[in-house]
Amino acid sequence: MTIYADNAATTKMSRTAIEAMLPYMDKIYGNPSSLHSVGQKANEALTAAREQVAACLGCDARGITFTSGGSEADNQAILSAARLGQRKGKKHIISTAFEHHAVLHTLNRLEKQGFEITLLDVHENGLITPEQVADAICPDTCLVTVMYANNEIGTIQPIREIGAVCREKGVIFHTDAVQAVGHLHINIREENIDMLSLSAHKFHGPKGVGVLYARKGIPLTNLIEGGAQERGKRAGTENIPAIMGMAAALQEACGKIDSTSAQISALRDKLIAGLSEIPHSVLNGDAVRRLPSNVNFCFEGIEGESLLLLLDDKGVYASSGSACTSGSLDPSHVLLAIGRPHEIAHGSLRLSLSEETTREEVDYMIDAVKDVVSYLRSISPVWRDLVNGKSNFVIQ
Ligand SMILES: *Cc1c(COP(=O)(O)O)cnc(C)c1O
Repeated sequence: MTIYADNAATTKMSRTAIEAMLPYMDKIYGNPSSLHSVGQKANEALTAAREQVAACLGCDARGITFTSGGSEADNQAILSAARLGQRKGKKHIISTAFEHHAVLHTLNRLEKQGFEITLLDVHENGLITPEQVADAICPDTCLVTVMYANNEIGTIQPIREIGAVCREKGVIFHTDAVQAVGHLHINIREENIDMLSLSAHKFHGPKGVGVLYARKGIPLTNLIEGGAQERGKRAGTENIPAIMGMAAALQEACGKIDSTSAQISALRDKLIAGLSEIPHSVLNGDAVRRLPSNVNFCFEGIEGESLLLLLDDKGVYASSGSACTSGSLDPSHVLLAIGRPHEIAHGSLRLSLSEETTREEVDYMIDAVKDVVSYLRSISPVWRDLVNGKSNFVIQ
């Protein structure tokens, strides 16, 4: 048996998405900038995809820019708002300590260029409050960027309320909604969102394609110079097959959010209940305000990498947190941000489900994790010291 439980890292493409792509690799392969019929057919498809994406998100299609994915959209959103602020003499940006690195590293770069960055503390439950944002805004603030849902611990931020605070104070509000789009109901207009990033491969679309939404009146700064594609804001021949796959995947996902989220969150809660039986374990992130698919635990006295390798032997494909930090020995910045000490943050496990996950798989995963955790503890000197009282448990 193999179980894919790493849907927060990427998802398997849906049949619908694959089938939506095929004609644009085969028959309608024209360049949408070409004037002949096969080019114009591709251009019509591009327009239709843009409208389809806008309809799913509750925004104006003219605000949609197709990008190479979530990282590019985050970079371009933040750099654009920063340049706009700079022109008005505003160089203060507010974000949180547990954003994706596409956001945090872009902010680091701006800090080196003289911007002042405030990273809000995240509460132990993995949430920030609109009041924290309101308190941090000053006359110099040109951008607030807060992720919609966290990719490691799955917590869902009060986006509508944060957006309302920003709107009232006249500050641009960007949200990295890569984990949320296709999984939660999102309405850009109603939720006071000025800019939003999404990525197709997180909702069963293809990899290497995403969207940056920016409302009217926010000019984008180019990351890539060249032709006049995407209203001159993102040069390069459009990846039509990927864009068509993304639009189809998004429409499919958004059309069944209620049923899939009910189904997946029931499995999530079963998995959380099972893993909570492991002694000295703790669920990371709020139990209620979290993505339907996300389960994230810390186990005391465990090293996350060994846990993953042994789970892989048992056919369970999991993650210790973010795919982007795997391979590095640093503990997750997200777990540190919610106050987990280093040694605890090292023993983390993220299982992210999809609508293909079954009850049998959940039962199997509970047994597999229980087995592997007890085995690793049985050979761990750190665990022996904890049990013998030579050191103190952090997780009770
Ligand atoms: C996956 C992810 C990204 C990066 O998206 P790519 O399309 O892989 O570049 C950004 N932010 C969050 C929250 C993510 O989960």
